[in-house]
Amino acid sequence: MENKYDLIIIGGGPAGLTAGLYAGRARLKTLILEKFSCGGQILLTETVENYPGFPGGISSSDLMGNIEEQVMKLGVKIIEEEVKQLEKAAVFWRIKTAQAQYDAKAVIVAVGSVPKSLGVEGEKVLTGKGVSYCATCDGPLYRNKTVAVVGGGDTAAEEALFLTRFAAKIFLIHRRSSLRAAEILAQRLKENTKVSPVWDSVVKEISGQNKVEAIVVKDINTGKEEKLFCDGVFIYVGRSPDTGFLANLVDLDEHGHIITDTQMRTSQAGIFAAGDCRKKILRQVITACSDGAVAAHCAQQYLEQLKEKN
Ligand code: NAP
Repeated sequence: MENKYDLIIIGGGPAGLTAGLYAGRARLKTLILEKFSCGGQILLTETVENYPGFPGGISSSDLMGNIEEQVMKLGVKIIEEEVKQLEKAAVFWRIKTAQAQYDAKAVIVAVGSVPKSLGVEGEKVLTGKGVSYCATCDGPLYRNKTVAVVGGGDTAAEEALFLTRFAAKIFLIHRRSSLRAAEILAQRLKENTKVSPVWDSVVKEISGQNKVEAIVVKDINTGKEEKLFCDGVFIYVGRSPDTGFLANLVDLDEHGHIITDTQMRTSQAGIFAAGDCRKKILRQVITACSDGAVAAHCAQQYLEQLKEKN
């Protein structure tokens, strides 16, 4: 009985933890499996400014730490293991990690997403040697140095602003002539004299002997190439859902996002999805939390219906 649960939640980010909170309050025997430690990708950002109720913003680690504490108080178990496989086993869904296997009558997949790479020459070999996907982790290494930030979304804008605390100069390289990021962030970047936008441009190459020394950018209108000398490159060109382990079990869209209905149900009865790994219009902490609450509520209803049938 030890490894049998009513509900297993895969992923301990905002969606997974909130699902845990609602499942715990519904008194479901619940397990959260998280491959690293709880908190999710939001921990790569220092401050969350748009979570309601915190007019001055809240540090991502405080926000996620508080939610985790709230969940643990309800007796929800959290185990740090990476899920390798999810399959049907009689009336249960069986989840295999490298260390163990767990069975549950319902599963919520809340695995979030991973950063996309640019796929240009030099990126892989210089990762950790100047190429980074996390300004919060590596930004302080670039005090008074020059860095490049690639991308035009909220993440690139937020992280470029964060880097202005340390770096002397920031090239913001974007393939269009305006940012996709929220206007409030775009405005702050415009006003910051450390930020030098390089519009309509893509990175062609990242170069350096043992560490990043320069990047080559290409103007997409003129085709002209230019070498920009810099000490670090921070890449924020979007994210991919971490749904590889699902194989062909549930329906995914062309990008690998899980397709659900408004009750967070996937194409398989008993499997729900929540947060950034789901096909949706807005990926924010608040919408991930909302998904988690809905998924747990609907998983509970599903479990009640199962009980009535048997
Ligand atoms: P995103 O919104 O998908 O933006 C990715 C950016 O990278 C876009 O500007 C895109 O250009 C560019 N790009 C994509 N592939 C590229 C390539 N190969 N070469 C050069 N540029 C490339 O990704 P994100 O900024 O990581 O945000 C992901 C989600 O999280 C979004 O929904 C965002 O709103 C949300 N988020 C919210 C907050 C917040 O509210 N505080 C913070 C961070 C993220 P195009 O514009 O031309 O497509």
